[in-house]
Order: sequence, then C-alpha cells, then structure tokens
Amino acid sequence: MSAERTNWAGKLTYGATRIHTPSSVEELQDVVARTARIRALGSRHSFSDVADTTGELVSVAGLPPRADVDAAARTVTVAAGLRYGDLAEQLHRQDWALHNLGSLPHLSVAGAVATATHGSGDGNGNLATAVAALHLVRADGELVTLRRGEPDFDGAVVALGALGVVVAVTLDVVPAFEVQQVVYDDLALDTVGERFDEIFAAAYSVSVFTDWAGTTRSWVKHRVGDGDWTPDPAWMGARPADSPRNPVPGMPAVNCTEQLGVPGPWYDRLPHFRLEFTPSSGEELQSEFLVPRAHGVAAFGAVAALAGHIAPVLQICELRTVAADDLWLSPSYGRDVVGIHFTWRKDPEGVAPVLARIERALAPYEPRPHWGKLFTVAPEQVRERYPRLADFRRLRGEHDPDGCFGNAFTGRYLG
Ligand SMILES: Cc1cc2nc3c(=O)[nH]c(=O)nc-3n(C[C@H](O)[C@H](O)[C@H](O)COP(=O)(O)OP(=O)(O)OC[C@H]3O[C@@H](n4cnc5c(N)ncnc54)[C@H](O)[C@@H]3O)c2cc1C
Repeated sequence: MSAERTNWAGKLTYGATRIHTPSSVEELQDVVARTARIRALGSRHSFSDVADTTGELVSVAGLPPRADVDAAARTVTVAAGLRYGDLAEQLHRQDWALHNLGSLPHLSVAGAVATATHGSGDGNGNLATAVAALHLVRADGELVTLRRGEPDFDGAVVALGALGVVVAVTLDVVPAFEVQQVVYDDLALDTVGERFDEIFAAAYSVSVFTDWAGTTRSWVKHRVGDGDWTPDPAWMGARPADSPRNPVPGMPAVNCTEQLGVPGPWYDRLPHFRLEFTPSSGEELQSEFLVPRAHGVAAFGAVAALAGHIAPVLQICELRTVAADDLWLSPSYGRDVVGIHFTWRKDPEGVAPVLARIERALAPYEPRPHWGKLFTVAPEQVRERYPRLADFRRLRGEHDPDGCFGNAFTGRYLG
C-alpha cells in the first residue's frame, strides 16, 4: 500500500478505488466531469475521515505551484495544493505576509481552508478568513470563481470538499512583519484559569500547552512594532525559558521555530514547527473542541477535572484563541472561541474512552469539534451547532445536485 493511500498519521487508509494526480487544471476538470463520485485530497493531515471516500480521490498537489501577488489588491492567488510554508517564503521575498498560520507549515492551503484550520490570537480569524476568492471545479467539470461579497460566498469557503475541487485560492495579504517568540516555563494551571483573558491578550498570538501532569508552558508571539516589548522575567508568575523548547515535553527543540525573543519573519515564528523538519513521524492522534470565548474558563475547568484520565494517553494539550468569523461551517462562526486541543499518543483504544469523557464534560459549553480531528460527538449535536447548515445544504444542492463530492463524513454531519 503506497503512503499516499493513508493519512499523515497512518491510521486511516482511504477507501478510494483510485487517486488521481492531474498536472493541469484542464486534466483535473476532465477527471471530475467523468467520475461519478470523487473528492479532493490535500496534504492528508486530517485525522478524521473528512477526506475519505469509497469513490475516487483527486489530489491537487500536481498542479503548477503558482503564487501570483496582486500588490494593488493586496492578494495572492495560489495553487490549491501549495503548502503554507512554500507560499510563505515566496510571499516574504516580496515583502508580503499572511495574517496567521497554523502550528505547522506543511498543510496544503485548500485542505486547511476547507476545514477552517486556525492559529492563535484574540484578533486573528482562522486561515479561511483570508480567502478573497475560490477557483473551484464543479461536478460537471466547469471551473467557476466565487468572490467575497457575492451571495453565499461565506458558505463556500469552509466547505469540507463538498462543493467541488478547489484548484486555486485568492488570499488577502498584509505587509511582511516580524515576530519575537518567547516560551514561558512553569506557568501555574490555576493562573491559566484565573488570568485567562490577560494571558491570551498578552501578544499577537499566544498558545498555552499543558500535559496535565505538571508541565505547563506558554508560547507568546509578539508582533514587532506592536509597542515596546521585552520578555517579562516574571510573566504571570512564569519565567522565560533559558533554551528552546518543543511543545511536547522531552522532545528535541531542533525542529521548532526560533524562540528566546529573537525577532524573525512571521512565517518562521507563527508556526511552532519549521518547514524543513518533519514535526514528527505521525506518531500521534489529535482532537480539538472550539468553545465560545465566554465559556473558555469553565470549559478549561471541566477538562482540568479530567486531568488524571487525560494525562496517561496524552502527549500535549494546547489552548488557543480564534476570532469570530462569518463562514457558515467554521467552528468560530459568529463567536470568538477558545480551541482546546489534544495531541494524543497513537493509541486509539486508550484514547477513545477519554475522548468520550471529554466530550461529555464539554457538552454544556456548546463545543464545535475541529472537522479535521477525531471526535465522536453525535451527528445531530454537531448539526445543531451550525445555524447556517440549512443554507449550506441549499448551496450544496446548487453546486453538486447529485452528491458527487459527498462522503460518509458529510453524510453524517451535514445531512
Ligand atoms: C501535525 C498536524 C498539525 C496540525 N495543526 C493544526 C493547527 O495548528 N490548526 C488547526 O486548526 N488544524 C491543525 N491540523 C489539522 C489540519 O490543519 C486539517 O486537518 C487540514 O484539513 C489539513 O489540511 P490537508 O491539506 O492535509 O487536508 P486533507 O486532510 O487532505 O483534507 C481535508 C479536507 O479538505 C478537503 N480538501 C483538500 N483539498 C481540497 C481542494 N483542493 N478542494 C476542495 N477541498 C479540498 C478534503 O476534501 C477534506 O474534506 C493539524 C494536523 C496535523 C497532522
């Protein structure tokens, strides 16, 4: 079985009868037009079966890797299969940047956008909020462009691959900027609960990592130019790390982006991991629940009460904040959220009962699970949490009346 037939973590073998890798948009249009059931495949980083199908898959990785900046419009139009890391380096050479990035730069642009992948930052929307236009091949093979401001555009951006195959994405860009990244050791868990808002408001992007077994640290990413800033020797009762850290305690920091407050380009500080290193061999599983900011502290407390169950099957837990957006299927639709993320050991049997406990504990706080990560929340509960789902279904009916792009996942959660 070739590596391409499994997801990045190696735990999901795609049921597709065939994986196409066209090298031109025309070839892709032809493949889509003559295939009854097909789904787009990105860089295979999702843990859930969101990308899977028993029909055929089409990877966009073979399309020409274009990245065309329109300086006047402040946008870049990129090939859908480009990895954020490759795009970022090209943008930076032209003095442009993206507003935010995920924790690692290896994710494909279209795959990350389709699942509302996010970074952190009170003021930062997820990566899909930068989408100004989508260039999409529909079931009949027609290439259409959907632009921000047009009716239903907000429904089409985070679409879980259900509207068609995105071949290019136009993203907003901002002038290039620098970031200083400082890790603080020995942050007390009680302090996280007590000073939650202060902690996350401390910089452009803040992540709190805990193993729920004694190690809690914060990754504070300050945007150079946002006022005077030097690492605080006693920030929130924590202290600046004296050497680089890996978010997973005990793992080497060599594959992490530069820390210790050294200023550097946005793309080499906002992700935790560097492009030139594989962050791990896939020896992990992941889950994440996004709860309204107003419930953040209570939800954190509910998870803390399960620390003894969580720690034995956990590598690391990460808390991040994401600004509200208008994208219908985004977990941050209509509300600022806190992402409570779990990087599990690669032990599905051990993780399953713990995940179920967490889901029960978080249920009162209206969590929306990350589409690309593992969850077992009842489909009807997931559907209830998306107020624009009926609109999305209507939009889907217009773009894909025969359900060519559907799969078991979209059947469960979109209906
Ligand atoms: C190590 C690791 C770190 C991660 N870090 C983060 C993080 O910091 N923040 C976060 O929010 N998430 C994170 N994730 C989750 C990840 O961002 C999502 O699972 C994302 O969807 C992965 O993108 P992909 O290109 O691998 O997509 P895939 O897993 O290949 O596909 C995901 C979905 O996108 C659709 N899709 C892919 N390409 C296209 C296309 N061209 N047109 C239409 N639909 C398409 C697929 O059909 C599928 O529905 C991480 C995952 C891993 C493994």
